[in-house]
Amino acid sequence: MRGGSIAVVGGSIAGCAAALAASRGGAGKITVFERADAQLRDRGVGIALQSDRYDELRDAGYVAPEMPWAPLTRRVWTVRDGEARHGRALGEQPFPFRAYNWGSLWSELRRRVPEDVSYRSGAVVTGLEPDDEGVTLRLADGHEEHFDAVIGADGYRSVVREAMFPGAGATYAGYIGWRGTSRDTSGLPSDGHDAHNIVFPGGHCMAYRIPDGSGGHLLNWVLYTEPPQVDGLHPDLKTPTSLPPGRLNSQLTAHLRDLVAEHFPPYWAEKVLGTPAETTFIQPIYDLEVPHYTSGRMVLVGDAASVARPHIGAGSVKALQDATALEAALVAGSSWKEALERYDVNRGAVGSAMVALARRMGSAQVENTPDWSAMGQPEFEAWWQDQNSGSDRRSGFGGHSMKTK
Ligand SMILES: Cc1cc2nc3c(=O)[nH]c(=O)nc-3n(C[C@H](O)[C@H](O)[C@H](O)COP(=O)(O)OP(=O)(O)OC[C@H]3O[C@@H](n4cnc5c(N)ncnc54)[C@H](O)[C@@H]3O)c2cc1C
Repeated sequence: MRGGSIAVVGGSIAGCAAALAASRGGAGKITVFERADAQLRDRGVGIALQSDRYDELRDAGYVAPEMPWAPLTRRVWTVRDGEARHGRALGEQPFPFRAYNWGSLWSELRRRVPEDVSYRSGAVVTGLEPDDEGVTLRLADGHEEHFDAVIGADGYRSVVREAMFPGAGATYAGYIGWRGTSRDTSGLPSDGHDAHNIVFPGGHCMAYRIPDGSGGHLLNWVLYTEPPQVDGLHPDLKTPTSLPPGRLNSQLTAHLRDLVAEHFPPYWAEKVLGTPAETTFIQPIYDLEVPHYTSGRMVLVGDAASVARPHIGAGSVKALQDATALEAALVAGSSWKEALERYDVNRGAVGSAMVALARRMGSAQVENTPDWSAMGQPEFEAWWQDQNSGSDRRSGFGGHSMKTK
């Protein structure tokens, strides 16, 4: 097993971390196949990492203090209150997170991928053929290459997962996330150290400050609610899809404008509506679980393995933890079989628990929202506690600790 060849399909957050894990785990030849031919660092959206999970990942050597971040300490939940400029804070909670710009988080991980790893941009994997000695990858340009093992880090539409568990795809959750980043961070309460959840019937909008990558800040927001029945969105959204920045048509833009104008406090309405169209886009929200994280010599990490709705703020943490667990399994295992089974046992249950928690949060925060206007701090705390008290308590908001199994 040591010195063997490993292909990583997908070169995003999970893919770069998996390449690092494979290298530390003793692989001799590592090739990353990334479909995108442009630099991924241009994705400018926010990613928040819970502080304790960050510390663990730093100690494991996957993230580092020099990566630009903005501190968050508290999250304030706000509901519209007539024309009160900032609305009414119905509840607040500790929110020890580090806010990142997706692009700089990816750049730092990409920088950590060892130089002897071959990172091929613009390389699309179209199929996989497993055999007793490994897996043959088929590429869109017609080439085929054989590897001892393949790591699927190719996101929620994974071709690796399809080869492992045909038909085990992502399920549309029934609502979407509108995302945007704006240069206008003026007047943010608490000097931008708070995260904000602006709530309304049928959804909420999370907003927080992230680094802009050149010493300043951006306001990052994501608004979750049911999609409008208008042109420009696939009518059922069951096929995984998204509308990239700048592609929202006038009907979609008008829908967002009307929703925000009706439900947001004036300050937050200005912030969202002032966001340039070229940085506003839509991501449908999905759930995904797989029976196992491994099958033969194929392994899944990150969103390819499981997708938890983003309300738990832990997708990147989960992807990075998958990589650290894979590294540990490769180091400890004496055969591919032993190493990959060890990884599956470690991460499979964690993935399922996070998906379950995220479903509960999606239900409470979007699908079955409470009467926010009637809530104060005590009601808020009881409502929050209810979402966090599922049958499997190993999962946690912001990700579970790597110290507990
Ligand atoms: C609205 C929203 C908000 C979120 N907010 C947060 C947050 O605050 N905190 C957090 O931790 N997480 C958050 N997440 C989740 C987080 O973005 C992901 O879980 C995390 O980045 C892991 O992604 P990944 O690398 O597994 O997959 P992806 O980023 O999807 O990467 C997959 C890569 O594989 C490549 N690829 C796909 N198919 C092929 C192929 N056939 N051949 C070659 N390459 C291929 C793609 O081009 C892509 O680069 C959020 C997600 C959403 C949707």
